[in-house]
Amino acid sequence: MNPSSETFDQNALAALADKQLRGALRNATSLFGQRRLAAARSLDNWEDLRSQARRIKDEVLLRLDEYLLAFVSKAESRGAEIHWARDAAEANKIICALTVERGAKSIVKSKSMTTEETHLNKALEKAGMQVVETDLGEYIIQLADETPSHIIAPAIHKTKKQIAELFTAELGMPPTDDVGQLTSTARTTLRQFFANSDVGISGVNFGVAETGTIMIVENEGNIRLTTSLPRMHIAVMGIEKIVPRFEDLDVFLKLLPRSGTGQRLTTYQSLITGVKQSPTEEGPEQLHIVLLDNGRSRMLAHPVTRQSLACIRCGACLNACPVYQQIGGHAYGSVYPGPIGAVITPQLMGLKKTAQLPYASSLCGACREVCPVKIDIPRLLLHLRSEVTERSGDHVPKKTVERLAFKVWAQVMRRPKLYELSARVGRLMQRLVVKNKRIGKVGVPPLSGWTNYRDLRPIESQSFREQWRKGLIGNREQ
Ligand code: SF4
Repeated sequence: MNPSSETFDQNALAALADKQLRGALRNATSLFGQRRLAAARSLDNWEDLRSQARRIKDEVLLRLDEYLLAFVSKAESRGAEIHWARDAAEANKIICALTVERGAKSIVKSKSMTTEETHLNKALEKAGMQVVETDLGEYIIQLADETPSHIIAPAIHKTKKQIAELFTAELGMPPTDDVGQLTSTARTTLRQFFANSDVGISGVNFGVAETGTIMIVENEGNIRLTTSLPRMHIAVMGIEKIVPRFEDLDVFLKLLPRSGTGQRLTTYQSLITGVKQSPTEEGPEQLHIVLLDNGRSRMLAHPVTRQSLACIRCGACLNACPVYQQIGGHAYGSVYPGPIGAVITPQLMGLKKTAQLPYASSLCGACREVCPVKIDIPRLLLHLRSEVTERSGDHVPKKTVERLAFKVWAQVMRRPKLYELSARVGRLMQRLVVKNKRIGKVGVPPLSGWTNYRDLRPIESQSFREQWRKGLIGNREQ
């Protein structure tokens, strides 16, 4: 069973105890991080691009209604059919009805976080369809009956050995740890589904208001096949994915792959404008674009939460986050993990079941540093924490000890003499736990919650004030 957001603390503890998981995460996130840095440095206007991207997103979000209508009008003029979905259930209902009407039995899907958000696969399977994920990572996850643990690398938590064992068990391939053989087996299996499927379902990276074009980026070519081989293509798009002009894609195409995988460009960029206009052209006969709200209008209405909608789902904040690096995506118990997940999930699902997520951060700011659209995630987390505190009801975990500790600390901080005295007492007490100039594991809660997984620096033998008074630092004569 997949963990839920309600049990985040327990999920995180279980993940911390899984050495294999932590090893796989450490390797993958540090590799992505290094590549991102190198790719960003390859451009001398990286910071300008980030600012430009944010300006475009802000422009769209302030006039989203106008840009959406412009997009719809252009897309319809090229033969696309538009469907508006208020929530996940409505989106799934629309898509199931379209596939039933088409007489579909088999559906190929390309990776789409939006359809993960609506739990579309379950709805389609309930309607009697066979649904096959065609992105390799998603396919692995589907075979393992798991949920993705990263926005752009769904199987990031799996080792090569685990994938090989899965392929042997599920696809009957002889045991091997040869990556070429593993991918070739997946490719051969998936090709049959592409050839025989009636409907292809994809997500959307960007929708261009000026032309009605949808853009989808990828590395494996599976999206090309999903959107062009079956006769019907259904694209599911969050309403925030709009950009005003075609030329704006240039900015996001520089930022998205570099931030996500450290690539200068993804291998494929599919630009789809309506249906094929003649029998000799490539592409589907029918294109349906489902525009999903599912809580986005609520986020749009508030000036603080609005910026969550600027996210282009690159995954960089996950790779940079010291919490995600340790526990991975499943612990968050939601489709969107990591820092952006801790912000989006409570807004999509409500705080009742997700009150622990805004606290799943050390507020170090690493996510803000790497975000290509400059989303101030720490500020959003603090905003949500204050909402949790304000709404504090039975469903919100009461951290009585923590609250008391902060109240005492606030009193001490207001009284300089008391502050100095407490530092002196702390210095004496820490002798019991300091080893090799570090405070290691302290077995007593609540300190054990901190020290089980990180070392603390001990209090210095002389405080800044004491050194200042003795004239050891600064120059008191000036
Ligand atoms: S919040 Fe920023 S860094 Fe995180 S996934 Fe979204 S765009 Fe990428």
